[in-house]
Amino acid sequence: MQYNIALVKGDGIGPEIVDSAVRVLEKIGEKFGHTFNCTPYLAGGCAIDACGVPLPDETVEGCKNADSVLLGAVGGPKWDKMPGNLRPEKALLGLRSALGLYTNLRPARLYNSLKEECPLRPDIVEKGFDLMMVRELTGGIYFGERGRRDGKYGPEAYDTEAYSVMEVERIARAAFDAARKRNKKVTSIDKANVLETSRLWRETVHRIAEEYPDVTVTDMLVDNAAMQLVRNPSQFDVVVTSNMFGDILSDEASQITGSIGLLPSASLGASKCGLYEPIHGSAPDIAGQNKANPIATILSAAMMLRYAFDLAEEADAIEKAVDAVLDDGLRTADIIGRSEGTPLTCTEMTDEILKRI
Ligand code: NAD
Repeated sequence: MQYNIALVKGDGIGPEIVDSAVRVLEKIGEKFGHTFNCTPYLAGGCAIDACGVPLPDETVEGCKNADSVLLGAVGGPKWDKMPGNLRPEKALLGLRSALGLYTNLRPARLYNSLKEECPLRPDIVEKGFDLMMVRELTGGIYFGERGRRDGKYGPEAYDTEAYSVMEVERIARAAFDAARKRNKKVTSIDKANVLETSRLWRETVHRIAEEYPDVTVTDMLVDNAAMQLVRNPSQFDVVVTSNMFGDILSDEASQITGSIGLLPSASLGASKCGLYEPIHGSAPDIAGQNKANPIATILSAAMMLRYAFDLAEEADAIEKAVDAVLDDGLRTADIIGRSEGTPLTCTEMTDEILKRI
């Protein structure tokens, strides 16, 4: 099969890590008989330098027309003083909205070989965890009506949480679909004891659950979920929640895995075309030094194969190769921890992953 991928390398370590992921895709193409046509587009600081705007129209068009988008990271100190509408990060929000990406998938899993990096208690670490956060990305309080006004106690500010049934239905379906590709268990997080939006969220999730009789669904209040993530993360498979709760809980979940350089993400909309990117930023402190860990971006490419192209066997091959390098004790500088030896460069880590595919 032929697949057209828009590559948005971005700034800082973006070009190094995206190039690594492309090498992995080429290897998968050779092994499984696919062609991945990759076309680069500018976004972020490099686009500001070249065209004066963080998200050129050509990039938006190219991404919309592609089968999928692989992004490195944008931003860096060079552009930190730009006015709000000309900041590199505007490119991310612009792309998400242009592509209608309302679902954010963030897997967080503890690698056996990296258990010593986990900040949790040893008895919790021993049980391990492997969960998928499904966060609603374009609704809720981040997009609701807001403002300033004169209130009972003088000047006040307000933000509004609002969810339509349609928005909850589509994110619930995304979560149940993801659960079908995993262990068929969904935990829906809300604050239904206080918030009306959460009560609508809960009843809608349960109605959609009837379409998925093979998947079990449990409700959990967000305050309890924040606690359970550090007390007993192994209980979770797929976790689905609103924009703001997901923003907070997905960062908590990523931290308990121990390293930012390992974690991929996917942002999806109604079409299969999505945006796949590592959860970390452009790491300007190590940019251009061949020190970056390429694993989060390589795993983002694996998510793209699984979710955008339905290539589960090919995605498994990448994930198994990453497991194998880590099991073999190979480490880049960010995950060397207490291990012995010299850390691998970004290129060397990519070479080792390629050997294991
Ligand atoms: P960061 O994630 O770029 O870096 C935080 C720390 O983690 C740094 O020490 C960095 O060296 C390290 N790190 C990150 N990724 C790594 C990797 N793959 N391998 C090894 N080490 C890695 O966060 P930051 O420093 O807060 O932000 C830097 C820039 O990135 C800022 O301009 C910020 O706005 C931008 N940013 C972009 C995105 C994105 O494009 N999605 C996300 C977050 C931050």
